[in-house]
Amino acid sequence: MTSTYRIPMSEPDLTDAERSAVAAVLQTSSLSMGIEISRFEETFTRLTRLKHAIGVNSGTAGLHLCIRAAGINPGDLVITTPFSFVASTNVLLYEKAIPVFVDIDPLTGNMDVKRMRQVIIDLLKVGKSAMNWLPRSGVKNPGTLKAILPVDVFGQPADMDPIMDAAKEYGLIVIEDSCEALGAKYKERPAGSLGNYGVFAFYPNKQITSGEGGMIVTDDDQAASFMRALRNQGRAPGDSWLQHSYLGYNYRLDEMSSALGRVQMSRLDDLLAKRERVAEWYNQRLSLVAEVELPKIIATTTQMSWFVYVIRLIPGINRDQIETTLGVLGIPARRYFNPIHLQPYVMEKFGYRQGEFPVTEDVSRRSLSLPFSSVMTESQVETVCEAITEALKRGKQ
Ligand SMILES: *Cc1c(COP(=O)(O)O)cnc(C)c1O
Repeated sequence: MTSTYRIPMSEPDLTDAERSAVAAVLQTSSLSMGIEISRFEETFTRLTRLKHAIGVNSGTAGLHLCIRAAGINPGDLVITTPFSFVASTNVLLYEKAIPVFVDIDPLTGNMDVKRMRQVIIDLLKVGKSAMNWLPRSGVKNPGTLKAILPVDVFGQPADMDPIMDAAKEYGLIVIEDSCEALGAKYKERPAGSLGNYGVFAFYPNKQITSGEGGMIVTDDDQAASFMRALRNQGRAPGDSWLQHSYLGYNYRLDEMSSALGRVQMSRLDDLLAKRERVAEWYNQRLSLVAEVELPKIIATTTQMSWFVYVIRLIPGINRDQIETTLGVLGIPARRYFNPIHLQPYVMEKFGYRQGEFPVTEDVSRRSLSLPFSSVMTESQVETVCEAITEALKRGKQ
């Protein structure tokens, strides 16, 4: 589909170093569970300074294993955000847990931590009746509040100090979805390293890619050993190939992917610097366009790792029309994100309606994700920005 566009939505940044590392794996007979996954995992214990890194075959798989390791059972409540990629909520639904959505901070798009605290207090004080959607939902027996699952939206870390404070105060586990924030920092600490568990993802549009892949990081020895077993069909240390201590999955990451990811990690600083430069090219040009709101970074606490470049159109501009015109002009642009509580299967399961998370819905309605990657050139950025200006002009006619 991208071939119909003049500029791709995203592109991996690959060199001969990646190509020869993958080719070298194919000179061996060790294609899974070999040395490459360990080497890839080591790059993450080094980056996060945590004890354990566990490679898996997607970010979603990583998040799912964290839900299992956190002991989240059917009916348990988990606080999370409706402004995310669906995977962060889906992993709760896989375990029949119940997402409790908290609306977002309009500046960053991350979970609004003041609202979050109020939601926790309400849940503990008035229990089920704090969930006003409950009577409309198919949920029969809501359980106890167990965890918080914040998302580092677009590469900007969630406001983790208030989240960790609340978690400590109320005895909650924190699973940090850092799938968009590899290399970002929150008060000098690496994104993904602040909660009980952190997860990264390596689909080809992410900051680094392994083709498909994900990585869990944690300091918890027992959970790490459990998650290593679960990714490998539930085989605990000491289990033979056909012995399975737990109900597990095949979430293993193969050696070709691991080799690719390992080389990409060795280039991380360079890849992030290139992405930042592309974001600056966009900022320079689009700051002159009155109808466009630029991404906002809370520079006092966070160091961004640019995953996507998402603009918002000011109220009154028809986003869908701009998106369509950009397409006609050969420029792909995406709505990003579509609110999770308005996805058909989530609405059906929990009875959510339009208007329940107004900040999320407003931001979502006005957002457009623009073509973005580390290999994008300044002239490509220029082409996209000219197309935006043209689309805005046509929208007025
Ligand atoms: C990319 C992403 C994931 C994981 O995606 P996979 O395709 O499973 O690797 C999870 N959460 C968020 C917010 C993401 O952007």
